[in-house]
Formats: sequence, C-alpha cells, structure tokens
Amino acid sequence: MNKHILIVGGGYVGLYTALRLQRKLHRELRGGEVRITVIDPQSYMTYQPFLPEAAAGNLSPRHMVAPLRRILPKVHILNGTVTKVDHAERTVTFQPAEGEPRQVAYDVIVMAAGSISRTLPIPGLTDIGIGFKTVGEAIALRNRVLHLLDVAESTTDPEVRRRALTFVVVGAGFAGVEALAELEDMAKDSTRYYRNITPADIRWVLVEATERVLPEVGPEMGKWTLEQLRERGIDVKLGTRLESCEDGHVVLSDGSRFDAETLVWTAGVKPSPVVNDSDLPLDERGRLKATAMLTVAGTPDAFTAGDAAGVPDVTNPGQYCAPNAQHAVRQAKVLADNVVRHLRGQELVEYRHKYVGSVAGLGLHQGVANVYGVKLRGFPAWFMHRTYHLSRVPTLNRKVRVVVDWTLALFFKRETISLGEMEHPREGFRAAVATTHR
Ligand SMILES: Cc1cc2nc3c(=O)[nH]c(=O)nc-3n(C[C@H](O)[C@H](O)[C@H](O)COP(=O)(O)OP(=O)(O)OC[C@H]3O[C@@H](n4cnc5c(N)ncnc54)[C@H](O)[C@@H]3O)c2cc1C
Repeated sequence: MNKHILIVGGGYVGLYTALRLQRKLHRELRGGEVRITVIDPQSYMTYQPFLPEAAAGNLSPRHMVAPLRRILPKVHILNGTVTKVDHAERTVTFQPAEGEPRQVAYDVIVMAAGSISRTLPIPGLTDIGIGFKTVGEAIALRNRVLHLLDVAESTTDPEVRRRALTFVVVGAGFAGVEALAELEDMAKDSTRYYRNITPADIRWVLVEATERVLPEVGPEMGKWTLEQLRERGIDVKLGTRLESCEDGHVVLSDGSRFDAETLVWTAGVKPSPVVNDSDLPLDERGRLKATAMLTVAGTPDAFTAGDAAGVPDVTNPGQYCAPNAQHAVRQAKVLADNVVRHLRGQELVEYRHKYVGSVAGLGLHQGVANVYGVKLRGFPAWFMHRTYHLSRVPTLNRKVRVVVDWTLALFFKRETISLGEMEHPREGFRAAVATTHR
C-alpha cells in the first residue's frame, strides 16, 4: 500500500479527520506507506463558536484558532486553495498562496471545505455587508463597532451620529443572534467611557425572514430569547426581509427605511464553491451528495462530511444532518475510521448521531440552552455554554489560554479600543512619504 490521502479543508472536519488518521495510521505513516496532506488557505482551524466572544473582546483571537502544523506534525499542510477536483483523474488543482497553480495527485480524497455565507442579489449588499464566519470578520466588526462609537462621540452632525450608531444584523440563527448579543453587550459596556453616548442611543436591528429566532434551541427557548433580546432594547423584526442597502440606506420589507453604517449578513450558509468545480455528485441543495457512511454517493475513494455535504440523518429518516459543529466533529471521527477501513478492505460503518440540542451565549453572564431536553436560561445557560465549548476547543494549550482570557476578564475591565488601523498598516507610512515629496 502506498496511498496518498488528500483532505480539502482544515476546519472542524479536516482537522479532526487528520488528527484521527495521524493516530490510527501512525505505523503506516512512519513506514511511508501512507501520506496525508491537508490543504487550506489558513494555517489554522477556526473554532467558530468562539467568534462572537472574540468579537466582544472576551477572548484573544489567537486563542480561538488551532495551529494545524503544530497539532498535525505527521501531516503535510499546504496553504492555498483547491480550485478544481478532477476525481476521475484523482487530481486537484491547487492554487498556493503565492505563485502558479499546480496539480496534486491523490488516491483518496476527503472533501471538508465547509461553507460560505449564502447571499442574495440585494442592491448594496456587496458594498456594505460583512459576514461572520472568519476571525478576520469578527475582529473587523469589533473594531468597527468601537470606531463608530468614536465617530458618534466626535461628530456634531446628528445624521452622521445616528447612522454611525445604527447596526443591522440579518439572520437570526446561531451566528446572527450570538454576534448581535455579544456586540451589543460590548457596545453597551463601552458607553461608560463616552460623555455623549448612552446605551439608549445605540440602535440594534435584527432582521429575520421567518417568524422565529435561534431555531437551534427549540421553539420555547427561541421565544424566550426573542423576549430577552427585545427587553434589551434590540429591535427584532420577524417575517421581514432586507430589500436593499445601497450606500447604507436600509430598506426592509415591512416598509421601514433608515441609514446604517454597519450591516452584518448571517442569513445562512452554502457549500464552499469548490464543490461546484468538481466532478463529484451534488444533491438538490448543491451540497456534495453523501451516504450515511460519509462517502460521496456512487464514487469510489471519495469521502465527505460537515457543512459542504448533505449527510442523511439516519436517526431521522428523510432528513439531513444540520450544518453544525456538533455533527462535524462526530462525523470526522466516523469518516476517519471509514477511510482506515477502506484502506484495509474492511466494511464501512454508518454515521449515526441524534442531535442533542444547543447552547448559545447572549453576552456576558447571559445565555440560553436546550441540551438533552434540559432547558436553561440566563447565567446557568451561559455557564454551560462556556464549559461545553471549553471542553470542545481543540488542544490543552488552547483550553488553558481560553481559561486565562476568561479569568483575566473577571478581574479587569474589558478592552474597548478599536485597532482598526491594523487593517491598513501602510497608511501612516504612505502619508509620511507624501509629506517628503511635497
Ligand atoms: C459564528 C458561528 C458560530 C457557530 N456556533 C456554533 C455552535 O455554537 N455550535 C455548533 O454546533 N455549530 C456552530 N457553528 C457552526 C460550525 O462552526 C460549523 O458547522 C462547522 O465549522 C462546520 O465544519 P466544517 O469542517 O464543515 O467547515 P469549517 O470548519 O468551516 O472548515 C472548512 C475549511 O475548509 C477551508 N476551505 C474552504 N474552501 C476551500 C478550498 N477551496 N480549498 C481548501 N480549503 C478550503 C476553509 O478555509 C475552512 O478552514 C457556528 C458557526 C459560526 C459561523
């Protein structure tokens, strides 16, 4: 056996699959009978459930990512993007971070490229919208919210002030509700340092096309979350769609119109575009067509799981597993075991997991949970949210760093400065050059 296993994507599924393969195939890896490669544009896995806490400044962004090369020393990590999969030829086209694209051959492929924001052709969305899926987006949003408080404090123009202090989030699932709740909590906390801004001056609008928020925690807890958000002064608009946001002028389907500097788009996800640039079969929703064994349907030597795949939920016939971390981590375990069984000519096993419910953070000391039918709200839910995610974040190193961040936050006030200039590091230097050429 001299096999090359190629994993496309180093997120939840990619990292956990590689980790398990590294352990289960350690003898074959040492003997050179097996090689494993992970391709991802980033050199780290992002623990996405911590994005809202990183945006709120409760966690250092470096502590919510897991470095692939350190965790996977027996695996070859390539940084760049897979732009095409030619499974008939067992090759992918790899576009490295710099330089020319090249072909990478493999024997077995694991498609774990996850998802991207699912957008709609709404006028203005590409100009002012921002997603909430990456560390870059979470930190940019944090900087933006804090910067806009500075803008509002410093202007004498009431229009500029109102626009700066209006924040819109579209989509009331996990990502939208958690991002909004954490950022609102941070902004409220920060107003104590401003002379002319009170929490009541900041307008948060949550726009949701369906009639419910946070469906992940069930109807009862979703209803409670809705009441909670409204009690906090958040304008939650259910059954409402964003119609346009050209130049920051927001128009909603309920007829309301207002200006906003910030619009966060979290209205769903769709598979990474690489699935369309492959000869692998897709299902009716454009995801890779998966079997319960986490193979790509009707395709030898190809496996898939996570947000990019439509995995049948064998505990709920006719349904698919939801795109969440709970499934992704568990699928990765079965997927890795099935890759090993496939290499050894053994029979594959099915992925079977009944969704156990969810926990969500709604700001410091506030949360909501519905796990194994146990419904919690407020502080106990928040505590459960933190302990659950702490137990899940990969590596002891990260766990300790997360606990240190949280502990420091208990004793010191949170950092409320915008470091937005980090996004344009050369501007100061350019301005200096301009003065010497005057
Ligand atoms: C803000 C937020 C909060 C969340 N909170 C929760 C929660 O509390 N509980 C929960 O269960 N789930 C939660 N989720 C969902 C969960 O994070 C995802 O379901 C999970 O990350 C899916 O794992 P994945 O491996 O399929 O994709 P990802 O973890 O997204 O990994 C995909 C990887 O593939 C890489 N990639 C993409 N395209 C290519 C390409 N062409 N070539 C190479 N690499 C590529 C990406 O860079 C990425 O690293 C949350 C998501 C978000 C955004």
